[in-house]
Amino acid sequence: MGKKNKQFVEKITAMEDDFAQWYTDVVKQAELVDYGQVRGTMIIKPYGYAIWENIKDELDKKIKETGHSNVAFPLFIPESLLQKEADHVEGFAPEVAWVTHGGDEELAERIAVRPTSEVLFCDYYSKNIHSYRDLPKLYNQWANVVRWEKTTRPFLRSSEFHWQEGHTAHATDEDASQETDRMLGVYADLVEDYLAIPVYKGRKTDKEKFAGAKYTLTIESLMHDGKALQSGTSHHFGSGFAEAFDITYLDENGESQFVHQTSWGLSTRIMGALIMVHGDNRGLVIPPRIAPTQAMIVPIAQHKEGVLDKAYVLRDQLKNIVRVDIDASDKMPGWKFNEYEMKGIPVRIEMGPKDIEKEQVVLVRRDTGEKEFVHLSDLEERLPKLLEEIQQNLYDKALAHREEMTTVATNMDEFKQTLEEKGGFIKAMWCGDLACEEKIKEDTSATSRCIPFEQEQVSDTCVCCGKEAKELVYWAKAY
Ligand SMILES: [Zn+2]
Repeated sequence: MGKKNKQFVEKITAMEDDFAQWYTDVVKQAELVDYGQVRGTMIIKPYGYAIWENIKDELDKKIKETGHSNVAFPLFIPESLLQKEADHVEGFAPEVAWVTHGGDEELAERIAVRPTSEVLFCDYYSKNIHSYRDLPKLYNQWANVVRWEKTTRPFLRSSEFHWQEGHTAHATDEDASQETDRMLGVYADLVEDYLAIPVYKGRKTDKEKFAGAKYTLTIESLMHDGKALQSGTSHHFGSGFAEAFDITYLDENGESQFVHQTSWGLSTRIMGALIMVHGDNRGLVIPPRIAPTQAMIVPIAQHKEGVLDKAYVLRDQLKNIVRVDIDASDKMPGWKFNEYEMKGIPVRIEMGPKDIEKEQVVLVRRDTGEKEFVHLSDLEERLPKLLEEIQQNLYDKALAHREEMTTVATNMDEFKQTLEEKGGFIKAMWCGDLACEEKIKEDTSATSRCIPFEQEQVSDTCVCCGKEAKELVYWAKAY
């Protein structure tokens, strides 16, 4: 490695030395975000937003394919409306940003900047659902929301973030429960197939469920440092909100019934997962399916006659097959190599005078660093295949890491030792008692991540109190 290259790489802290600093360095150096003027806010820069847009576009397609329509509800919520559902307001009150003035005039009623929009949809549904013929209502909105966080980090916890929130109303509890499952499945597919991140699917404990929900389903993923990240949630509300907001419909027999509701959301937090699952000491590693640029052409000795012309011909040849770009700036190739490794672009295509002579290019994989020489006539076939191989490799690597970092514990000594020495997910039985869940959190700072759909009996007794076990729970320290 040349001196110049080395200095460039040294701009990011090694993840083994300080994972939090590594994360901050990557976010900055890869030009994903900048800090906003109000503490905890972020400016998502073009490259960061291009990645988010690809995630968003794919998810939006899936949301529409499952029958939902996009809408846009207001940013503001009157205080009285937010207070209608007791658990909900209690859950969100500490994080609400309030508007108290309009210009110079003090408002008669405070207005909340939406921390989430359940109450707005409920209010609307109470006025617009009358008959069983109006159901189901399947709405989604792409929006920004505000939660006044005490400690913030780009993407992972920011005072303002972007997301989609689905809000649906159904005739029966069973319909709502199918919807809750369906949308968790949509999230799991997106995160596994496009972001190459394996997830555990399960239900949140009552302590960890959404404020006001009957139950919450979640997908949980594991970061490189052994901490978990909640990556998408789907909530079944039962008729709790409907009773608070009086959302009723006349059924086929003309009898008044409460609707059954769901909500589900996936946010820019998932960008944090993307960085922390696949990234390495050279920067980001973006899975090909969501990479804004899948292949970057770097001409070698581009001042030599014919090199740039050939490189542009190559780009035009490939642009209908993959998302390809070219860097024809006068920066040194070594600088370009580092720059696009930092940005996590899946494949680099090198082409210099010797390659042109041999009618070949050099393909360099971001995930493994492996090089291969490909004849120009094979390139259109080879490149898409290589991208798929990279996609699969990233998933396989993440899965192997998660498996290695998932450990069974049958008593608290094992639990604590695993958490201290290794981290990751801990599989342990639980009696179902809130006291045990709270004690575990207090003693270890690990929280219950989910009660997995795929249950196993790893022991007969609760890991904490030793009483009869009810369920298997995945526990972890989490972001
Ligand atoms: Zn217990």
